[in-house]
Amino acid sequence: MIEFSGVCRTYGTKVAVSDLDLTIPRGELFALLGPNGAGKTTTIKMLVGLLRPSRGHVRVAGHDLVLDPRGAHLHLGYVPDEPCLYDKLTGREFLWFIADMFGMPRDLAGGRIAAEIEHFELGEFADDLAESYSLGMRQRLVFASSLLHDPETLVLDEPMVGLDPRSVRIVKDLLRARTSAGMTVFMSTHTLAMAEEMADRVGIMVRGRLVFLGTVAELRERGAARPDSAGTGRESLEQLYLDLTSTAGGESPR
Ligand code: ATP
Repeated sequence: MIEFSGVCRTYGTKVAVSDLDLTIPRGELFALLGPNGAGKTTTIKMLVGLLRPSRGHVRVAGHDLVLDPRGAHLHLGYVPDEPCLYDKLTGREFLWFIADMFGMPRDLAGGRIAAEIEHFELGEFADDLAESYSLGMRQRLVFASSLLHDPETLVLDEPMVGLDPRSVRIVKDLLRARTSAGMTVFMSTHTLAMAEEMADRVGIMVRGRLVFLGTVAELRERGAARPDSAGTGRESLEQLYLDLTSTAGGESPR
């Protein structure tokens, strides 16, 4: 479970996230949408402990990211939008490094590493240095590393960027399987179709505030109810998103 209560974050006088109250129950896949500069990355960085809220609290599995970061991180996996690896480690060495950081026993870690290498089809290049990896390979390795300690909560910043269609399928299947098994997933995306296909609920953020929170079906209903709507098709959903975000100069979802 993820909880944001009364969360604000400012950069100097700039308010990036304002009065965020949001609870995501265990087993839910939540997608945060919004135009450039809406506050999505700031929200995610507070959720994974890379930024402190200026006000309010963020909790993962009941652990406050500021007061009990170690407790929270044991329940947290994170895939940033720009995968960060050590160029002079091989993929396999990187996975061992992550397993050691989480203090996993060697035999448990060995089994999990082998399973994730197979799952993400990393075998062909697992023993090559990360410096030789393409963006998609790097992203797949970071996905694998984020799951090694079997976290209760997975946080994904634009998870499909750089992935080819087969890798996208692997990640979608994984997210479905893990959320069915009780994992909570929080992801940011610019891709409305992805949110529509995968998310139990979506939040739309504009200028640091949630302007919509609900299911895609509810968002679609809201679009269809508009007097100028042409119906319940895809266009009305996109149009509603654009209308909701236009005050922030938002761009079109893909
Ligand atoms: P994008 O979709 O472009 O990644 P975003 O929704 O992730 O955007 P944020 O990166 O969270 O948005 O930015 C929210 C606001 O905070 C923006 O107005 C941005 O300019 C501002 N901001 C973000 N980081 C900083 C920083 N380090 N210093 C000052 N302002 C910042």
